[in-house]
Amino acid sequence: MLVLSSPSGAGKSTIARSLLENDKELSLSVSVTTRKRRGSEIDGVHYRFLSDVEFERLRDTDALLEWAEVHGNFYGTPREAVEKNMADGRDMLFDIDWQGAVQLQEKMAADVVSVFILPPSLAELKSRLHRRAEDSQEVIEMRLENSRAEMEHWRDYDYVVINDDLDRAYSAVRSIVLAERLRRDRRPGLFDFVSGLLDEKLP
Ligand code: 5GP
Repeated sequence: MLVLSSPSGAGKSTIARSLLENDKELSLSVSVTTRKRRGSEIDGVHYRFLSDVEFERLRDTDALLEWAEVHGNFYGTPREAVEKNMADGRDMLFDIDWQGAVQLQEKMAADVVSVFILPPSLAELKSRLHRRAEDSQEVIEMRLENSRAEMEHWRDYDYVVINDDLDRAYSAVRSIVLAERLRRDRRPGLFDFVSGLLDEKLP
């Protein structure tokens, strides 16, 4: 379970998209949200967009693995898709905030690898949010203010990547994924492989 968090505009979504394009073993956990859909977003691909009542029904029937209120809207991770993908041996990518990261770490510590992405400066974050031009001025100001609070949680993460260059930041996260997959405790098949290796008869 690869958890990516960052303040809005730090480049997390772009990095997530590149990871998904280049790594066929990785699936995105599509969150549900009560936020209004942005023009560029597709329901069921970027999020499942729900009413407050629909969200509450999922939350109250334990259908969400974690959930949180972020920037005045509700977001949550549907449990079923995660459990199914994990049972099929697939790795999952979660684009969620620090509250969600903490909940997943508490519930599934051994499976979670968490990465926090920082912008090089607040000024750069602000100009990225304006360049993106997908939110109103008021929403951008609120998101910037919330960014400081989000960034205070950097210590809760296993890795921290500063996105001063998108290619380098992407490579860093990709390296984390590759290295984590090589960890001995994530490779149950290794015991048999090494046993076979040691038993091999040389000609
Ligand atoms: P946005 O509205 O910009 O798509 O997302 C706002 C914030 O909500 C981002 O930090 C994003 O990572 C977070 N978020 C998206 N989906 C979830 C989720 O399912 N759970 C939690 N806890 N946060 C989420």
